[in-house]
Amino acid sequence: MELFDVAIVGAGPSGATCAAFCAAAGLRTLVVEREKFPREKVCGDCLNPACWPVLRRLELADLGRAAPHGKLEAVEFIAIGGQRAHVNLPPGDESEIAIKRSLFDNLLFTRARELGAEIRDATVVRAIARNSSHHWMVAAGETILEAAILVGADGRNSTVARLSNLLPGPERERVALQTHIPLPRKFGNRVVLQFLPEGYSGQAPVNENELNLCLVGRPPTIASLRRWAERNFEIAADHAWRTITPLTRAPVSAVHENLFFIGDAARVVEPFTGEGIYYALRSGELAANAIVKIIRGQNRQVTLREFARAHAAMYRGRLWINRLARAAVLSPRIASLFVNAARFQPPIWRLLTAKIVRSN
Ligand SMILES: Cc1cc2nc3c(=O)[nH]c(=O)nc-3n(C[C@H](O)[C@H](O)[C@H](O)COP(=O)(O)OP(=O)(O)OC[C@H]3O[C@@H](n4cnc5c(N)ncnc54)[C@H](O)[C@@H]3O)c2cc1C
Repeated sequence: MELFDVAIVGAGPSGATCAAFCAAAGLRTLVVEREKFPREKVCGDCLNPACWPVLRRLELADLGRAAPHGKLEAVEFIAIGGQRAHVNLPPGDESEIAIKRSLFDNLLFTRARELGAEIRDATVVRAIARNSSHHWMVAAGETILEAAILVGADGRNSTVARLSNLLPGPERERVALQTHIPLPRKFGNRVVLQFLPEGYSGQAPVNENELNLCLVGRPPTIASLRRWAERNFEIAADHAWRTITPLTRAPVSAVHENLFFIGDAARVVEPFTGEGIYYALRSGELAANAIVKIIRGQNRQVTLREFARAHAAMYRGRLWINRLARAAVLSPRIASLFVNAARFQPPIWRLLTAKIVRSN
């Protein structure tokens, strides 16, 4: 049986980042990923500037900038009645961009492999168990693998959390639809956050030809949001959309004795503020630092406590704005009143936007 220091379930931004740092430190690192890469994902495709320092440490910042992407110079909020509030985003080399997940996730995936991680994609993890030496046995596809440490990086519906009886009950309050469509003429270098009676829509150019279009609503009204999008963007009724739910769920504790949860598997944030990828990258890096220390024999309890503190600190000072955003998007009519008010109080919106779109 193959023995690994660390087995990571999921090769999204959190899993691939964790794998890259673990492999770079010389750990025998395995990643098991359900999908065949490259693959798209339900996402607004926006990279918060806070991602750049982690990408630099992965030596991926230049590759990220060289890949086709959309420049985001401003965010435009549109109220239900059509009123608009416009906020400029910080300029520069490490500004907010939009990049398709098929490209971005594949950069991370490739980097992890280059650094020595063994990646098995198109392979589903269906069962996990601990053996007598407290190692994890992971049923991945047709194979059983053994690892000292297991990482759940498998997203908001984490199989690892479910199999460990840690996954919080489903909150099927909202559902998201996402697709890429031809970029409307003169769309401009902006991300649009548009409130609609049934929910909201996010729109961002991801390259010179394509627009990322996301819709977030409740199950009974999502079909009506989709019809709105079909009318507004001339999308055929049989167009294929990607979908995901839930948009919200309670967090899972990020650290257990030899089990870590990172990215969405640990905590799902409101997509409206476009920060999930940052949390995924940074939590992947923090977990890798801790795992390397444990495998090298440093004090496990101290290391776990340090990781738990750093993981909590990553969200501190950021979560309040995410909660505010969630409260706003749950009531698009009230959010629209705020957009109207913002037209007369631009400094408040500039401040709120700056709290979200900032480098760490
Ligand atoms: C509508 C919407 C819009 C969003 N927009 C943005 C945005 O603009 N910017 C932003 O930063 N964030 C955004 N997010 C959030 C962002 O998409 C996530 O936070 C991010 O993808 C989390 O990365 P991750 O690596 O933790 O998980 P994921 O990206 O979900 O990766 C998990 C991986 O695990 C794999 N997997 C799952 N189960 C198994 C299994 N049993 N076996 C093997 N592999 C498995 C999956 O195939 C997947 O590749 C948005 C989210 C939504 C829903």
